[in-house]
Amino acid sequence: MMGPKQEAQAALFYEFSLEDHVLQDHLLRSIDRFADLDDIRQYLAEFYSHTGRPSIDPELLIRMLLVGYCFGIRSERRLCEEVHLNLAYRWFCRLDLSDPVPNHSTFSKNRHGRFRESKLLRHLFEKTVARCIADGLVSCQRLAADASLIEADANKQNSTPKKDWDHSTIAPADAPRAVKEYLDVLDDAAFGAASKVDPKFTSHSDPASQWSKEDQKTIWEIVFPTNARKGPAFFSYSTNCLIDTDHSVIVDVEGTRSIRQAEVGSVRTMLDRIKDLHDINPERLIADSGYGSGPMLGWLVDRNIKPHIPVLDKSGRTGGTWSRADFEWDAENNHYICPGGEPHKQFRRNYSDPNRRPTGKGVAKYQALKHTCQACPSKMKCCPNADARKITREEHEGARQIARDIAKTKQYVVSMRLRKKVEMLFAHLKRILGLGRLRLRGPCGANDEFLLAATAQNLRKLAKIFPAPQQTSKA
Ligand code: SF4
Repeated sequence: MMGPKQEAQAALFYEFSLEDHVLQDHLLRSIDRFADLDDIRQYLAEFYSHTGRPSIDPELLIRMLLVGYCFGIRSERRLCEEVHLNLAYRWFCRLDLSDPVPNHSTFSKNRHGRFRESKLLRHLFEKTVARCIADGLVSCQRLAADASLIEADANKQNSTPKKDWDHSTIAPADAPRAVKEYLDVLDDAAFGAASKVDPKFTSHSDPASQWSKEDQKTIWEIVFPTNARKGPAFFSYSTNCLIDTDHSVIVDVEGTRSIRQAEVGSVRTMLDRIKDLHDINPERLIADSGYGSGPMLGWLVDRNIKPHIPVLDKSGRTGGTWSRADFEWDAENNHYICPGGEPHKQFRRNYSDPNRRPTGKGVAKYQALKHTCQACPSKMKCCPNADARKITREEHEGARQIARDIAKTKQYVVSMRLRKKVEMLFAHLKRILGLGRLRLRGPCGANDEFLLAATAQNLRKLAKIFPAPQQTSKA
């Protein structure tokens, strides 16, 4: 039997409880148990004036931002609408049915002002990491690092080719916020000073972003396609993540210019920071070959961190002649032994004045005696076009050899599988959390977005592993 037509009838009085209308297994219920925001007001106290109109509660703004980053709501206008309409979002933000939702313009004032000055977003992120450590999700033994390009809020149409760009003509007083930030980070190793090579194009709206092209798709990005554009180059920043591979918890995150030197440098910054903050001394660092340069491997070995990283090695030879790998290193005597059994020495002269002798630092050259090579029956296989064979040895060759030896172990095979977890996180970041393109400009804006997104990912991880207990219905 068809029931009566549903008519909207406004009741005079309602008995309504938000608590009863939010599902027991809603993700926000679990996230709420781990979002520790009690100290925000105290943390920000000195950034508020003692007089004037009372502000919007900063905890409410942070709760709304967390909702936005946890559920991929990228627009602040839309976030305000969603919080206005969604009962679970209201419950998480501690807003009752009749409480007004703040205006979207409040966010930009606080984000660019007191949130940034106080480093509140980093404080929140570090609290979630500390919570993950306290709950046993981080063993701090196997860390993996990688970077991913996130498109900046900048377009090619509003950019200048390299030959026409001169930052010395910019007047900082009249410049927009993102341009001022660009001028501030010109000497920063993560941005302006990362490379002496100027980018092909510089954006007018966000000059610190890098004109770059995304690398080849990885297998994980094929399975979980990201929103980042493939093919043509675009303006971007890199989000650099350091994760613990046990439960894929992000232990640190850093925004940089999208070039390899800046990305490698950021891993060192992050490893130093987590040691200072959380006393994390990893047993190994897992990364791809982009991080396998001699100085980086040497830096890791000096800190007793095993580099599970493919070595960047350009010593291989084409044409079938023997490469450096065919020569044996004799560390005790500081020389190579060639396949013909002859020693290759770095210095053969005895200097009466030791100050005159070469320092031996940097790339060292080792060479056999010319007449030995000329008489050698293997010369055509070794150095067919030279009088004698020379071998070079980089400053960090010892660390490179340690990495090569690690690459032959079973643990390394496991590490290469674990490395994919970082790529999974990037795919999740872009595909599920919608961070394919930044909404904030400048290095600070990019860092703010990366920190909030990493906080949201860690909170979601905690919520998934430790869901809120379900209330059993009364019999
Ligand atoms: S050519 Fe010279 S370096 Fe090469 S195997 Fe013979 S002696 Fe050794």
